[in-house]
Amino acid sequence: MSSDGPTLNDDSFDSVGASHSHGHGHTHSHGGGPAHSHPLTAGQEAHIRGQRSAGHDHLETRGGHDFALPALPDAVDVFDTTLRDGSQQEGLSLTVDDKLRVAEQLDHLGVTFIEGGWPGANPKDTEFFARAPNELSLARSTLVAFGSTRRAGVRAEDDDTLRHLVEARTEAVCIVAKSSEMHVVDALRTTLDEAVAMVADSVAFLVANDLRVFLDAEHFFDGYKANPEFTLRILQAAEEAGAETLVLCDTNGGILPYEVDRIVGTVLERFETQVGVHFHNDSGCAVANSLAGVSVGATHVQGCVNGYGERAGNADLAAVVPDLSLKLRVSTIPPDRLPLLTPVSHHIAELVNIAPHPQQPFVGASVFAHKAGLHTSAMARRSDAYEHVDPDLVGNSSRFVVSEMAGRSTLVMKAEELGLELDSDAMTSVLDSLKRLEYEGYHFAVADGSLELLLRDSTGWRQSFFELESYRVVADQGEDLSTEATVKLRVDGERVVATAEGNGPVNALDGALRAAIGDSYPSLAGVHLVDYRVRVLDSAKGTGSVTRVLIDSTDGDRTWTTIGVSENIIAASWQALSDSLVYGLLHADGGRA
Ligand SMILES: [Zn+2]
Repeated sequence: MSSDGPTLNDDSFDSVGASHSHGHGHTHSHGGGPAHSHPLTAGQEAHIRGQRSAGHDHLETRGGHDFALPALPDAVDVFDTTLRDGSQQEGLSLTVDDKLRVAEQLDHLGVTFIEGGWPGANPKDTEFFARAPNELSLARSTLVAFGSTRRAGVRAEDDDTLRHLVEARTEAVCIVAKSSEMHVVDALRTTLDEAVAMVADSVAFLVANDLRVFLDAEHFFDGYKANPEFTLRILQAAEEAGAETLVLCDTNGGILPYEVDRIVGTVLERFETQVGVHFHNDSGCAVANSLAGVSVGATHVQGCVNGYGERAGNADLAAVVPDLSLKLRVSTIPPDRLPLLTPVSHHIAELVNIAPHPQQPFVGASVFAHKAGLHTSAMARRSDAYEHVDPDLVGNSSRFVVSEMAGRSTLVMKAEELGLELDSDAMTSVLDSLKRLEYEGYHFAVADGSLELLLRDSTGWRQSFFELESYRVVADQGEDLSTEATVKLRVDGERVVATAEGNGPVNALDGALRAAIGDSYPSLAGVHLVDYRVRVLDSAKGTGSVTRVLIDSTDGDRTWTTIGVSENIIAASWQALSDSLVYGLLHADGGRA
């Protein structure tokens, strides 16, 4: 990566930034704006240190074939925009309650800033900011309201958008400004001078209202490539009016890392204000572009947990954060929060009601799973042989995927992982059972919970939590359709009969089983079913075909999947359900009351 690429015509904007000294004694007053009273963020301190120590020399001194880390800032501010940009994703819709809970998770994870939405743009976002001061107590993050500059031809103090931002009562705001000539002329239908004045007036108005201001320069990279002088005038206006951070946005998401390297580097050479980056993923490079931006000195990174967003999404913070923290040694979220990355990513996926992507880097369920025989035998010797980082560092874990295709060594390793000792006879019997069950329609590669119970069975273990006598499910179509289940079983030698209603047979059976054994096992209250999937196998046989039921469960810490297969959907469901609860009890702390 080099900063003196042929696509940049550096001479063309000497008139813009050259008058700025590079402020080696930079205090926290921005351009002509007033000094801010808030403490500096880690990213801002890193920004100032970078300017003091080396100026921008690091742009020139990095070696091309040197695998040492480039001269990176030592910290960046993580700015999450899930609740604003991320919620533009097709099919993603959040209630105000959902938004409050997502914000809690982001604070739990420890991002620096949480962009909550656009007050005044829709009733939901307005309500969010009205409720946030009372219902959201953030321990680590700062809440930010989003808006735009004033409209063309309107005074800042008369502009509704700016008024809503002030009324949102957040400490910080982020406003978007058009910074591409094409968008100003064709979309906004105003002059370049007016576009610059809109930025200057809006930032000055918000700063005068005691707000910290981030400027999102929309279409910055595309605009810069077409007319660098104009895009830099936008940044200069924001800096002089007192913006805290200049955020360069790749709104169409098509930019590539080498362009980021050059353009962000050039901006950093010309401005003393902190520089941030905001990338969409249309070229598949949003994460790479974010790292490229930081590698030349950006100290504020925007993105969304799980990469949510319009079209191809935004930069996935679940990858940007560990890449920066673990690989580039750039401080992001507090180090003790990093193992929360996987649980928070999954919790947010649950809140936005989008199934987590199993292959999502760092946090996906499959990304530290090893299946092939060669890999697994190498893994036995060195755990880092096929893992790019230690999964524990991001709250994920290694696992071995077992199926009938797997060899004996895979099964031995799975047993070791579970702390089970299987002798050669037991191992042979498990392999036989696996082959037979998978032929019947079981699929243990996706049902780790049931696989563990099967392995334990082969050691002679039998679950002793309860002993089933019978169960019964009745669906009754009266005025409404109601489902009722009755379970008869023995716990501790006592016979228990319990009945529960539910919105379907699995729900009713789950209720009845919990009613029957819940008093004996209070830890069951922490176990929840999170997903239930039914697949009909061999559908040529019609209703006589076999049904496979998979149930995903969680106790908040771990998640597991159990399986049931039967010609009868109720029987298959019962099997997966009772396996799920047995697994939960087996791993619960204390277990029995
Ligand atoms: Zn965006």
